[in-house]
Amino acid sequence: MAAKAPLLLRDSEIENDIRAMASPVLRAAGLEPGNMGIYLIGDSQLNSFVAGGQAIFINTGLILRAETPNQLIGVIAHETGHITGGHVLRTKEAMRNASIESIIAMVVAAAASVVGRSGAPMLGASGVAERSFLLFSTAQEATADHAALNFLDRSCQSARGLLKFFEILQTSELLSGDRQDAWVRTHPLTQQRVQYMRDHVAQARCSNAPDPPGSAELLQRVKGKLHAFLDEPSKTLAAYPESDRSPLARYARAIAYYRTPKLDRALPEIDGLIRDFPNDPYYRELKGQMLFENGRVRDAIRPYEDAVKLAPAAALLRVSLSQVYIESGEPALNKRAIAYLNDASRSEGRDSQVWRLLAIAYGRDNQLGMAALSLAEEALANGKKKDAINSPIAPSKRWPRTPRLISAPRTSTTRRSISTSDPAAAAFPTGAQNAV
Ligand SMILES: [Zn+2]
Repeated sequence: MAAKAPLLLRDSEIENDIRAMASPVLRAAGLEPGNMGIYLIGDSQLNSFVAGGQAIFINTGLILRAETPNQLIGVIAHETGHITGGHVLRTKEAMRNASIESIIAMVVAAAASVVGRSGAPMLGASGVAERSFLLFSTAQEATADHAALNFLDRSCQSARGLLKFFEILQTSELLSGDRQDAWVRTHPLTQQRVQYMRDHVAQARCSNAPDPPGSAELLQRVKGKLHAFLDEPSKTLAAYPESDRSPLARYARAIAYYRTPKLDRALPEIDGLIRDFPNDPYYRELKGQMLFENGRVRDAIRPYEDAVKLAPAAALLRVSLSQVYIESGEPALNKRAIAYLNDASRSEGRDSQVWRLLAIAYGRDNQLGMAALSLAEEALANGKKKDAINSPIAPSKRWPRTPRLISAPRTSTTRRSISTSDPAAAAFPTGAQNAV
């Protein structure tokens, strides 16, 4: 099977929830959680990697298969170990400023050089240069494992989750070809690493520490939301029958109805949640997205504005609101979009959609010089600057605009709702990546 483009999924709520779960480990590592980019890749394989400075990329498959927050936190602790170990600095310097889309494109291109068409590893093949920034050495893996245990100990969290992840991967290693998870293709898991982890669990002070309060609920919500966006709506509705009145069930149903699409069922469900949980920005965001994607641009403004008021620090929400402002055709709102996007570009400047929207907004405001500058920024982020990125492909040509799980709705003419019938959203083997 040919490798398909991986799907970068941006979702403010999920990224923040994962950041919250990871915060104790990140702080133990001396990192500021707010500065850490958490990016989701729609891929059913177990994988995660670090690239481009302080950014962790996590496959949805890894999140959905995490049974406990501790498993996810353990993997993030290991990735954090690669960051603090300076291993990321050895990766191509260009990646430090590359857009997140370009980074994923580069990782996939490099993976293609190590994975044969059958999905079997071709480690002896050409592409050594591409591989070199994907693969960590055995010594670096040991360093990252050691650092992960240190961060877990310092935040008094168990290493059992990371050990469990290793054990799951060991099982995967026994499977053939494309049933293997990406991780084991490039990183045979040595018995030594597993034993090291096991020995640590046996003697560590916090091996039996419970998950931090609230984290199990956070993971459940993240998984429920991902399932609702990625699975067939009928599957979601079967998993969450009307009799289930829990907030997560109502949320999942609202998403399933909206994706069916049955707006007449989706809107009452989301309105009920907004009524019961008026301070939750993400219910309002979903309502705005539903309306916007169904062509009700003016009706979408208020829910998005409310979401931004409730979560003023969430830059992605401002980006979505800006898109609605631009599409409204109101010159005054277009000007507001310019201000919001400029603001968002400080933290989300690596998401090239910000620059694209800014170019459109400046263009409509007849600021053609600024529009050109924004397009230049986008080009820079996508690595079109000469020698900026030594990539075998031009990401912006190969990759469509970033599909968004929630945060950036599209107009009714351009929307591509995520569903399992969409091959881009289904599980696609992207091949070997710089896993764990
Ligand atoms: Zn690793």
